[in-house]
Amino acid sequence: MSLASMGKGSCEIYRLDPERPDRRAIERAAEVLRRGGLVAFPTETVYGLGADALNPRAAARIFEVKGRPPDNPLIVHVSSLEMARTVAEIPGKALRLVEKLWPGPLTLVLPRKPVVPDIVTAGLETVAVRMPAHKVALELVKAAGRPVAAPSANPSGRPSPTSGEHVIRDLDCMVDVILDAGETYFGVESTIIDLTRTPPVLLRPGPIPVEVLERLLEEKILVPPEARGLRAADRPLAPGMKYRHYAPDTPLILVDTSPGAVERIVEAAVREVARARGLRVALVGPDELVDVVALLLRLRGVEPAAIFRLGPLADTTVAARRLFKTLRRIDELGNIDVAIVLPFPERGIGLAVMNRLRKAASRRVGA
Ligand code: AMP
Ligand code: MG
Repeated sequence: MSLASMGKGSCEIYRLDPERPDRRAIERAAEVLRRGGLVAFPTETVYGLGADALNPRAAARIFEVKGRPPDNPLIVHVSSLEMARTVAEIPGKALRLVEKLWPGPLTLVLPRKPVVPDIVTAGLETVAVRMPAHKVALELVKAAGRPVAAPSANPSGRPSPTSGEHVIRDLDCMVDVILDAGETYFGVESTIIDLTRTPPVLLRPGPIPVEVLERLLEEKILVPPEARGLRAADRPLAPGMKYRHYAPDTPLILVDTSPGAVERIVEAAVREVARARGLRVALVGPDELVDVVALLLRLRGVEPAAIFRLGPLADTTVAARRLFKTLRRIDELGNIDVAIVLPFPERGIGLAVMNRLRKAASRRVGA
């Protein structure tokens, strides 16, 4: 354990082996949760900022620390189906998914039980529930012996933290305990599906692909444009949908053309780089597209200030894992005026990558 004092206070920081987390650190963090404190912890998606979900004062501190709008509800993390039943009604449809996909990166929106404080659900009649698979997260909730409300452990609107280092930097000791187990596995937040509507609605794409959910439910799932990050609706399906998310300080221009239309992508990217003449440009995207665009620019005597190859087109899990780290890195470089981002296919976790990029982008071109 190390005790850190930073700008906003002091906190306990524990570095843990993700496979064999130290029991004493987990017990200590669980005790802090039971007393109404805040604990940042790793999950398989991103790091969470947790509080006792049944304690409204503790949950209120999450909103304070994140600067989160009060109408954006929190996901409640559980360690067993039995615990899930204390906060939500679990219909047969939900059980089909739970059986196969919990613990894991899937959040279910379900009818709430009265014990859940209004601040956690933002006054809605539904509650979002998930059982995390990461050993540290699961053991922490189990040790706390109660559900843990946790959004991502970043200031509201910023890229989510995918490593303990991100959390330590972002939270500046405004929490009581930070559990640092290195990098997370998926790198993007959980898939959220609303099972209180018919047909079920995808609220946020994540590591569990829609196709997998449809197979298990034997039912089509509605994927609204908002779930693809396409429009901020006037009347959003979920409160979180109307806010800007994941955005770095550096302006981000997304070339939003089907990734198969290579010529159009290249054309749009080269045009944007030309428009940014005199500015320092970072080029970001799938390996293959970045390589083609960089080559064409080089032939014209233009050299981007930085190049980020996020991963191959054929395996978007790599890009998902690198996404938030890269958005942060662009800011950290301190010498980039604008980032031009090339698109990924919206299949599997690629849908989640494009959703995050569209929300983070200050401008979209080529659509
Ligand atoms: P975060 O934990 O910061 O990644 O955000 C949690 C997401 O879950 C937000 O987009 C919320 O709007 C969404 N959410 C939480 N509870 C509900 C609910 N009861 N109904 C719909 N969406 C929810
Ligand atoms: Mg978040």
